[in-house]
Order: sequence, then structure tokens, then C-alpha cells
Amino acid sequence: MEKKKSILLDVDEVVCFSGFRGAINDFLNTDYEVDDFTNYYMDEEKIPMERFNEFIKFINARNLYDNADILPDAIESIEYLSYLYDIYICSSCINPFDIEGSGKLFKDKYDFLRSILPFIKPEKFIFTGTKNIFKADVQIDDRMPNLINDIETRILFPSYHNKEVTDEELIEQKILRAGYDWRTGWKETTKILTKNIK
Ligand SMILES: [Mg+2]
Repeated sequence: MEKKKSILLDVDEVVCFSGFRGAINDFLNTDYEVDDFTNYYMDEEKIPMERFNEFIKFINARNLYDNADILPDAIESIEYLSYLYDIYICSSCINPFDIEGSGKLFKDKYDFLRSILPFIKPEKFIFTGTKNIFKADVQIDDRMPNLINDIETRILFPSYHNKEVTDEELIEQKILRAGYDWRTGWKETTKILTKNIK
């Protein structure tokens, strides 16, 4: 049997929305929905500077993956694609605003991924802050800076913070877009990855 092509799969905003937004809402006593944000770093956008340290302590007392929202069709699509592709998780676990406290994120994300994606072996989990050094045939990510590399098939997963990315920019960078709405991102991603498979 021919060797399967490999996928580097991002987690946050692609497989799930972590409990980060819920933590912001609980901390500020607000009701923000996903699409109320435009900045990738939700806390930078909504938490007042003078309360930032207090907020870091607040989120460190939580497991942000306890109440994560799985994106529509994510699990079924990833399981289906795992028969066609060799899937590696490639995810950042470092909160740039709290380097010291980020170790907890590695553990909480690891346990979460083991429970929701039992068909992906933990040997295939890559937790990193430097995604760009990894090679694969396909990469799925919601952040443009992570997709600037020479991987053959790169897919921008639609998200609240990447709506401003233009079609021209994507064409120039040879990056595909899995639609414009995170609600249908997995339907579009699966379409792309089942059409082009050789
Ligand atoms: Mg992401």
C-alpha cells in the first residue's frame, strides 16, 4: 500500500474553541460570542491592562479544555480523514502573556486530545511554539503566520480573527481557504482533502 500523505493539524480554533472565551466572560461578567472578537488574542482585546495579571491568575486556576466547544463536524471529519491521511497534531501550548504558567496548558491539552481524538496516537502530538520548522504534505491552521512555509497543500481554516485575509493574499501565498465561516470549515476542509487525494 502506498504511504499515506501527512497532515499537520492545528487544534485551537480548528478542532475546538477552548474555554478561554468563557473565562473572559466569567471574569468580566460579559456575554461575548466567538464572532464578537477580531483579535486572535481575545484577552488582549477585552481585558483592561490594569486587570491583566489578575486575569492570568484567574485562568491558571482553570482547565481551559474542560468546557471546550468542539467545532461542528470536527471529530467525524478528522476520523474520516485519518483513514486517508497520516495525521499529526501540531499545536502551540504557550500563552505569550504567561510563559511561566504555560506548562499547565500542555497537560490540559494533552488530556483533552486523548479524550476527543482517541484514534490519533499521542506519539503524533507535536506541542510547539515554532510550527514553521515541521514538514508535511498538508497543513491546516487558522493563523496566516503559521502557514507561510513550503508545505505543498496549506489550508486556512476560517475563524473570527482571519476574516480580513483577502483572496488575493491567499492566491499569492498559494494557500487554500476552507470557506469563510468556521461553522462550515470542516465540510470545506474535507471537500478539499478528498478531492485532491491521489
Ligand atoms: Mg489555531
